[in-house]
Amino acid sequence: MGQFNDTFESPDFYQIDDLLSDEHKLIRESTRDFVKKEITPYIEDWCQQATFHYPIVKKFGDMGLFGPFVDEKYGGGGLDYISYGLIMQEIERGDSGMRSTASVQGSLVMYPIYKFGSEEQKMKYLPKLASGEMLGCFGLTEPDHGSNPGGMVTNFKDMGDHYLLNGAKMWISNSPKADIAVVWAKNEEGRIHGLIVERGMEGFTTPETHNKWSLRASATGELVFDNVKVPKENLLPGKSGLGAPMMCLDSARYGIAWGVVGAAMDCYESARKYSLERIQFGKPIGSFQLIQKKLAEMLTEITKAQLVNWKLGKMMNEGKANSNHISMAKRNNVEIALKIAREARQIHGGMGITGEYPMMRHMMNLESVITYEGTHDIHLLILGKEITGIQAFF
Ligand SMILES: Cc1cc2nc3c(=O)[nH]c(=O)nc-3n(C[C@H](O)[C@H](O)[C@H](O)COP(=O)(O)OP(=O)(O)OC[C@H]3O[C@@H](n4cnc5c(N)ncnc54)[C@H](O)[C@@H]3O)c2cc1C
Repeated sequence: MGQFNDTFESPDFYQIDDLLSDEHKLIRESTRDFVKKEITPYIEDWCQQATFHYPIVKKFGDMGLFGPFVDEKYGGGGLDYISYGLIMQEIERGDSGMRSTASVQGSLVMYPIYKFGSEEQKMKYLPKLASGEMLGCFGLTEPDHGSNPGGMVTNFKDMGDHYLLNGAKMWISNSPKADIAVVWAKNEEGRIHGLIVERGMEGFTTPETHNKWSLRASATGELVFDNVKVPKENLLPGKSGLGAPMMCLDSARYGIAWGVVGAAMDCYESARKYSLERIQFGKPIGSFQLIQKKLAEMLTEITKAQLVNWKLGKMMNEGKANSNHISMAKRNNVEIALKIAREARQIHGGMGITGEYPMMRHMMNLESVITYEGTHDIHLLILGKEITGIQAFF
């Protein structure tokens, strides 16, 4: 059972709530209440025990937290991108591993089926994914191809009445428990396609990755394909090439930009409260200038990131946001969240390293978040290319 009474309220220094609709605020509050009830009382134990609490999948589904941007016809919420962002913010305020589960299901599994799938595929998978009856994962990264996914070696051959899939994927969130995997693989011409691989197909295994110090409440594993016969109707027909998985990553990275602000706000709020309660040299530590400097800088960075997210959300809604805009928000917001987690940890002194407070868990989680969905430096190179027109990847 959990160790603290969760009284979290988000800071809103620039009255950004004025920019949100009543529906946005309702979605945020209901997700926050859900997180307070279903995640924060238990997350410390799940992380200490490195357990993925599988029943949360159905609960996320019941709350409509999976793929909220998907059309209601397919079981989604038909919501806008600011709603999606607020949901990610609230879940990650609880834990980045929990948000990873929801991000993968929504942006990396439902999104490609929704955008590139056939009508039959949409009807077959999306309602079950939305309701949490089915869990999915997204296989792009390989042991030898992380930042350079275009070099992938996982491949499939056309065998007439089916495809034969071979290869391996690594670092795959949700994989050990997933019912389906959206897998990116090359055909005989070297063109990348998405295939839906189902658990139970012969030759398909999902070994779990153990001993992580980060995202311990999220299950991570491999996907291994040893002559897997994939039915032809499982190929996503709507888009091929590296641009297809990259579109999914844009959607997920957008959610991360919001999500990490939730983690940052949790750390800031904990530090603010602690600084007023903890007495040293006869005074609350919050009365010392050095502590105030830390808190002032945290709130400034959170406020800037909130504004970036809101404007990016508007651009997403209007179809004006591109990968470069998303890279800037993901890169900036993860960096400030990680710095805030570290500073907040210091404000708590020795207590900051314990599970009594959330900073150390958030900090360790954010070390994965700064690496996955494009590393911090890869996003910098994306922006560098946008600014100069010169690519510096290779
Ligand atoms: C917990 C976790 C969950 C994940 N979940 C998923 C998932 O669900 N699905 C999925 O497909 N993947 C997933 N990933 C994989 C993740 O996206 C990759 O780890 C990430 O893309 C980086 O690849 P890599 O680890 O191979 O690092 P590498 O690509 O080997 O990079 C190592 C270092 O080299 C740097 N580098 C690489 N190329 C350049 C360059 N051109 N210029 C300068 N520096 C460079 C990088 O910035 C990094 O610092 C997950 C990873 C983690 C840790």
